[in-house]
Amino acid sequence: MTRRYRRSTLHETDALCVRIGEFAESSAVVSLVTEGMGLVRAMARGAKRVRNGFLGPLDRGVLYRVRLGSRGEGLLHLNSASVREPFGALRRDPARFHAAEMVLEVAGDLMREGEPQPDLFRLAAFSLKVLERAPEDRLALATTLFLVRAAALSGHLPEIDACVACGLPIEEDRPLVSPARGGALHAACAEREPGARTVQKPVLDLLEDLRRRPAAEILRTPRPRSTMRGLRVLLEEWLEHALERRFRAAEPMEREIRRGEERGSGGGEGLG
Ligand SMILES: [Zn+2]
Repeated sequence: MTRRYRRSTLHETDALCVRIGEFAESSAVVSLVTEGMGLVRAMARGAKRVRNGFLGPLDRGVLYRVRLGSRGEGLLHLNSASVREPFGALRRDPARFHAAEMVLEVAGDLMREGEPQPDLFRLAAFSLKVLERAPEDRLALATTLFLVRAAALSGHLPEIDACVACGLPIEEDRPLVSPARGGALHAACAEREPGARTVQKPVLDLLEDLRRRPAAEILRTPRPRSTMRGLRVLLEEWLEHALERRFRAAEPMEREIRRGEERGSGGGEGLG
């Protein structure tokens, strides 16, 4: 669903660069998650030269103010990009870097072309800011929170308020979840659901918690590592099922979170 922008119209919006493709020697097709225009693919002439209209080579995971123009049919052109937030600390620490990679990949995959989703854009920009500044022991929580909110904003959150088969509340310790059915089920109700798997009830409780409370309040309280990991795995599976693709950033991110935990700082009072 690509919207055609009017000839010679100039668009200005905040944007995060999520992908830089190869095009020619010094130019590239870039994918931008924008505040006002949804996902945008644009031609960036000279993006890889050191001296260009972008004040340096265009980089992923930087918040820019961009000006986009169209010249008739085809791709929009990125006319200029000025840095609003460089998020430099994300590039100096592997734990922050790989968590940010996950944010960029998921936001880029969830955002639709030509359809403004400002809340999803703001969530991605906010999450990068948190990942840049939060203490190391909150990075896993910040990433988990991002996944919950991104899934919610794009309508991909599992239904957990009641069993999706019988409609009654779920009180058992190990209910099942089924991407095909869209949510949680009683074990007895899930007997004929081939794609369903069990999930710990605390994982669903954490999902409910992260969905509802203000982000600043959430980030003040550590959570058990294993519950956060269970929730990330659930949401990654959920989004991958919905988008029919795999997130390349998920595995390196989990590896860095584990390294942080082994150093004794990765999250959650050593629980789990
Ligand atoms: Zn049921």
